[in-house]
Amino acid sequence: MDSEPNTGEGSSSSSAAAAAAALQQQQLQQAPESATSPAAAAAPPSRYESQKRRDWNTFLQYLKNHKPPLTLARCSGAHVIEFLKYLDQFGKTKVHISGCPYFGHPNPPAPCACPLKQAWGSLDALIGRLRAAYEENGGRPESNPFGARAVRIYLREVRESQAKARGIPYEKKKRKRPVVTAASGINTGQSSGTSSGAGAGEASGNATGAATTTTV
Ligand SMILES: [Zn+2]
Repeated sequence: MDSEPNTGEGSSSSSAAAAAAALQQQQLQQAPESATSPAAAAAPPSRYESQKRRDWNTFLQYLKNHKPPLTLARCSGAHVIEFLKYLDQFGKTKVHISGCPYFGHPNPPAPCACPLKQAWGSLDALIGRLRAAYEENGGRPESNPFGARAVRIYLREVRESQAKARGIPYEKKKRKRPVVTAASGINTGQSSGTSSGAGAGEASGNATGAATTTTV
């Protein structure tokens, strides 16, 4: 029940970054003039804000590379799910298939060939950021593809299947553990060590958003 806070979500935030890097590399090749980030000049954005901006740019880049071409206006929940599945290739969380002897083992004694995926907590937090970014960039809440029912259902399925496969129950976020949030606030780098608290908390309500205020 009280499994360790390090359930692996933390590590995949850096894999989302890898996805962003991969996409940005393509972007650089296609459009070298967009190398600078104009908005970065003002006050230094919080970790959440800069992550949100990176995620948003990653998604826009994904749309740009999409075949057939896809615009934001035509983007549906199904496209968002497609995007989440695309991100799995950059995941770092082992998710055992049902035939694996370690299916349901939180700490397998040996390696196995099961695929690495994005942890549910990372996807959940990502969707929260993209959902906010969509509306901050002029999208209307009624047409927000990140808030689509299909996306919610997909995330729930991922959570349940990963909980089974990894033997890790994903419980409702507990409102405690200031130690963890403080640590993740200091740890502003790309490093992967932060706990699940950082990722999972951001999406599910902003009460935990206090994490970012601990730094200064
Ligand atoms: Zn396995």
